[in-house]
Amino acid sequence: MIERNIQSATRADRAHIIHPLHHPSEHQAPKIWVKGEGSLITDIEGKTYIDGLSGLWNVNIGHGRKELAAAAAAQMEKLAFMPCYTGSSNLPAIELAERLAEMTYPSINKFFFTSGGGESTESSIKTARFYWKAKGKPSKWKLISREWAYHGVTLAAMSATGMPAYWPMFEPRTPGFIHIKSPYPYFFNYEHERSGASGSSGIAAANLLEEAILKEGADTIAAFIAEPVQGAGGVIVPQDDYFKRIREICDKHDVLFIADEVITGFGRTGKWFALDHWGVEPDIMNFAKGVTSGYVPLGGIGVSDKIAQAIDSVDVSKRYMHAFTYSGHPTACAVALANLAYMGRNDLVAKAAETGAYLQRTLKQVEAHPHVGETRGLGMMAAIELVEDKGARKRFDESLKIGEKFQANMTDLGIWSRINGDRYFIAPPLTTTHSEIDRIVDAVDKSLHATFS
Ligand code: PMP
Repeated sequence: MIERNIQSATRADRAHIIHPLHHPSEHQAPKIWVKGEGSLITDIEGKTYIDGLSGLWNVNIGHGRKELAAAAAAQMEKLAFMPCYTGSSNLPAIELAERLAEMTYPSINKFFFTSGGGESTESSIKTARFYWKAKGKPSKWKLISREWAYHGVTLAAMSATGMPAYWPMFEPRTPGFIHIKSPYPYFFNYEHERSGASGSSGIAAANLLEEAILKEGADTIAAFIAEPVQGAGGVIVPQDDYFKRIREICDKHDVLFIADEVITGFGRTGKWFALDHWGVEPDIMNFAKGVTSGYVPLGGIGVSDKIAQAIDSVDVSKRYMHAFTYSGHPTACAVALANLAYMGRNDLVAKAAETGAYLQRTLKQVEAHPHVGETRGLGMMAAIELVEDKGARKRFDESLKIGEKFQANMTDLGIWSRINGDRYFIAPPLTTTHSEIDRIVDAVDKSLHATFS
């Protein structure tokens, strides 16, 4: 690779890369990252930052872990790639599937591998449709998801994603995708109370699923898809009774429940998988990101025994005609195995629970600020909700770009992360130390002053 200075690298970047969420106005002075070590990342100018978002919510074990590089090199030298299409397999994919069967929800024991989250969403949607066709109910093909959901941006995943900003320039969306309101407690509970409704707001939020199923007709709905904690939409942790009720509704109306654990899987929330916080199991789970800590691209879906049985029992003419070249990529699976071994050896899920509790507790200190609506999160994922009026739960006018200003101040203070509107995200590697958390929270405090003074 050529050694470059920042000017030459930026020039070549602008000339030749279309970035995710591309717009040149937001790419005037891109950070060009050259090195990572633990929770720290360094740019081409030699400036070091705390990686406040673990890359993109995925570098769970932190940067620079040599064991993963060694696992990739060893597998590449032996057998870098052969396909996993029916009739072929490879040892890392077999071992990884076996490991995942032990680790994931008890009823989930069979896996289809992808290269990332969007492909996992496509796969879970197609698998839900496949299941109902295999069961002789082809009319069940529609999907219900939620506002503020992020499930990726391939065409069907984009249609499930519940943030309209992703849609207009790529429409028409795939037909048959319905969105219900998010349980977003900061706003939902407030409206629930103000409306004078009695009973639990979590149950009320979950009941919106039943309403949508009844409106569309249960015989038309294949599945409901939800992130256990909505990530990119704002780190929205549902009410404690939400998912139990969701599971009941899905069972009552014969609707599959797809848990999108692309962010929440592999320890992020302080448990291996996040629905364990509420004692609920999905029928299908999406995963990606943390399975390899982002060292190489890998994702997949896990399916419950009843779905696996349907896949294995159809006539060959109705086979599971779904595939990716890189499904079960041996090098990616070898890196995943090394990542899971690293997590186990260093007890990272317990560590995420402990450090995560410290993060959530410490961050609460800034809630006294007049423009911090709330800080919230679960384990090692958190958000700060900036609002104009706390009493009325009123957001700032978008044109004020409060979130962007706050984010720029955080960057100046050495913390790198992302925003969604006026919500700022904090999800550093699970290995982050208490003193690094203190640095992040101190920067939050200073950035609040800088943003609102
Ligand atoms: N699902 C969830 C919950 C995600 O957070 C993401 C990515 N942030 C995706 C799916 C899409 O993953 P990818 O970008 O790898 O396609």
